[in-house]
Amino acid sequence: MNIFRKIIDREISAEILYEDDLCLAFRDVHPQAPVHVLLIPKKTVASLDDLAAEDSELCGHLLRTVPIVAAQLGLSGGYRTVINTGAHGGQTVFHLHIHILGGRGLTWPPG
Ligand code: AMP
Repeated sequence: MNIFRKIIDREISAEILYEDDLCLAFRDVHPQAPVHVLLIPKKTVASLDDLAAEDSELCGHLLRTVPIVAAQLGLSGGYRTVINTGAHGGQTVFHLHIHILGGRGLTWPPG
C-alpha cells in the first residue's frame, strides 16, 4: 500500500490542513519552500498517466481546491504547483499529488 493511502486511512500521521469528500491536503515532510503542502485525491490513482475519463470531475475538483488551500495557507503573493510524473519527472510516491509551494519567490526553470 502506498504511503499516501496510509495517510488517508489515518494509519500514519500527517499534518492535515484540508479535507473533503474527494481530497486531502497535508504538509510535505521534507519541505522545499517555507510552505510545502501536498494535495491528493482520496481515490487511488498512481499518476497523471493513470487517470481515466471518469476522473475528469475529480481532476477539476483537485484544481479548484488548490486556491482554497493556498488561501488557507496565506499564499497571497502567489505559489507554485508541481505534479511530478514517472521516473524522469522525479516522482517518488506513486499516488497522484499536487505540490503547492510558496512562502518565498521561486526561481524558474526548476532543476
Ligand atoms: P514526488 O517526488 O513528487 O513523488 O513527491 C513525493 C513527496 O512526498 C516528497 O516531497 C516527499 O517529501 C513527500 N512525502 C513522502 N512521505 C511523506 C509523508 N509520510 N508525509 C508527508 N510527505 C511525505
